[in-house]
Amino acid sequence: MPKNIGINVKVPENECNDKNCPFHGNLPVRGQSFVGVVVSDKAHNTVIIKREIIKYIKKYERYEKRTSKLAAHNPPCIHARVGDIVRVMECRPISKTKSFVVVEKLGNIHEK
Ligand SMILES: [Zn+2]
Repeated sequence: MPKNIGINVKVPENECNDKNCPFHGNLPVRGQSFVGVVVSDKAHNTVIIKREIIKYIKKYERYEKRTSKLAAHNPPCIHARVGDIVRVMECRPISKTKSFVVVEKLGNIHEK
């Protein structure tokens, strides 16, 4: 049985044996959560997420779009691919660059 990870997300339909999976393994999630788009799924169980931040620049009275990229763990039961819109949640560092985990797939940028 997948466990309740303490946030309001849809539990994945598939099961997995990944110990770094927040639903089926031993990975507590906490802290920040945000939505981003997957831009790379090449690495094993890892996706690169692009996140957009809209920042107001006072001097020009305009908004500026800033993007940042970060690596997140992609558990086999969620299996996010390039173009997927996903919610990621902060967790303990899984590797040198990963301290976020994908907790929910929200859709795909190619479908409306
Ligand atoms: Zn899982």
